[in-house]
Amino acid sequence: MHLVMIGGSDAGISAALRARELDSGADVTVVVADAYPNFSICGIPYYVSGEVTHWRNLAHRTIADLEAAGMGLRLDTTARRIDVAGRKLLITSPSGAEEVLGYDKLIVGTGAVPVQPPIGGLAGPEALGAADGVHLLHSMGDTFAVMRTLETAAPASAVIVGGGYIGLEMADALTVRGLAVTQMEQLPEVLPTVDPQLGAHVHAELAAHGVEVLTGTTVQAITRGAAGQTGRLEVQATGADGTAVTRAADMVLVVVGVRPDTALAAEAGATLGFKGAIAVDEQMRTNLPDVFAAGDCVVTHHRLLGQTYLPLGTTAHKQGRVAGENALGGNRLFAGSLGTQVVKIFDQAAARTGLRDHEAKPAGLDPVTVGSEADDHKAYYPGSHRIAMRVTGDRTTGQLLGLQLFGHKHAEIAKRIDIAATAIFHHMTVEAVSDLDLSYTPPLGSPWEAVQMGAQAWVRATQQY
Ligand SMILES: Cc1cc2nc3c(=O)[nH]c(=O)nc-3n(C[C@H](O)[C@H](O)[C@H](O)COP(=O)(O)OP(=O)(O)OC[C@H]3O[C@@H](n4cnc5c(N)ncnc54)[C@H](O)[C@@H]3O)c2cc1C
Repeated sequence: MHLVMIGGSDAGISAALRARELDSGADVTVVVADAYPNFSICGIPYYVSGEVTHWRNLAHRTIADLEAAGMGLRLDTTARRIDVAGRKLLITSPSGAEEVLGYDKLIVGTGAVPVQPPIGGLAGPEALGAADGVHLLHSMGDTFAVMRTLETAAPASAVIVGGGYIGLEMADALTVRGLAVTQMEQLPEVLPTVDPQLGAHVHAELAAHGVEVLTGTTVQAITRGAAGQTGRLEVQATGADGTAVTRAADMVLVVVGVRPDTALAAEAGATLGFKGAIAVDEQMRTNLPDVFAAGDCVVTHHRLLGQTYLPLGTTAHKQGRVAGENALGGNRLFAGSLGTQVVKIFDQAAARTGLRDHEAKPAGLDPVTVGSEADDHKAYYPGSHRIAMRVTGDRTTGQLLGLQLFGHKHAEIAKRIDIAATAIFHHMTVEAVSDLDLSYTPPLGSPWEAVQMGAQAWVRATQQY
């Protein structure tokens, strides 16, 4: 049995590891377009900030570890065409030579590519790029380009286009490096994946660390700065009230989301689904015989919504593992995502799982969201922090639909969101969250865990409807 994975990131490597775990005799080849298999691109901001001191430390596993696990790595090798009928893959080797690789089962894990928004200066023959200090950020190659700009041009200022989680992490990272950062977000609040009430806390944390945050601001163009101007670039935008906003900067980072990288699979006849991602069933099978797909290139099965597109590393790992098992003849199902995520912004963290009101309503649910606050541990013990919570439940059934949290980075925000993720996963009601037997000692918690207090606030508020 020869398995071939296209892509050497979370999905492709998880698939390869699982296949080798189940069958140490399986012949597994991973085709990777670059030389950085199994790198934690989620850790890029912490390498840029200097907290991770060497890019090699971002490797989940080294090349030697992967080879010891029994997979063959074809690095700097690009998959060009899938011959589904012949079960063959046309690849280009590092020398540029074309080669044909036969397979019994193929797993496509080509991931996502950064969205390039229609901003003047980013496209066309005169397009600005990394050499000018204008960057997109997704791969290790992009990271090296950012580091080159930081090390050779010694920028004093940066504009970050986009206030999603990667934009926020990079605002943190570049500020830590000593740059003056302006963050531009076209929506009314940063971190639009949480309700604006929590986004406003994130906004305040950025501002408290000196980041200039311009919300409701749409970037129109990036140009080279005029001679004598501070900053070698100029960013032109339209503010919330329609006025022109201009900022000079030494570097610009455009981080406005990703889109699934599907060209290879689509050309081979793969059906595309939600947001143009490769359609797969819960076993991660595409419509093509013997071809599976996983990770940021595929649609996401969501436990509450059915199908959506939610590109996340945690999900890519799970889907890859399912694809690897099923490619060997297994029958595993991807259990579905809840979009559980967390982001650190300077000294604070924001997290969410499940649905917000506007996401639940179109799914025929009857959502109510109730905001509340609680301490992370008993306030009499030093170092306690308030946690802001937004609990979303279904008014009709009482089912827990979602939770959003904001609080200090040491207030266990990530693990607290996981309480709700586990509860939603198992279809618990909001009220039943209060019944969970959770741990307590004053320096670390309260007799009623903060998430349980949030659940009780929801029950109190909805009983009055
Ligand atoms: C800065 C940053 C921070 C992030 N932080 C988080 C986080 O905190 N938590 C979280 O859950 N997620 C995070 N993510 C998202 C997470 O990294 C992705 O969801 C995850 O990497 C997706 O894995 P993947 O294997 O599907 O695809 P990708 O990581 O996109 O990898 C695709 C792979 O396919 C290869 N490839 C593509 N085309 C070809 C081809 N034709 N031939 C050969 N190889 C090919 C690429 O070289 C690469 O190896 C972050 C992403 C970024 C960029």
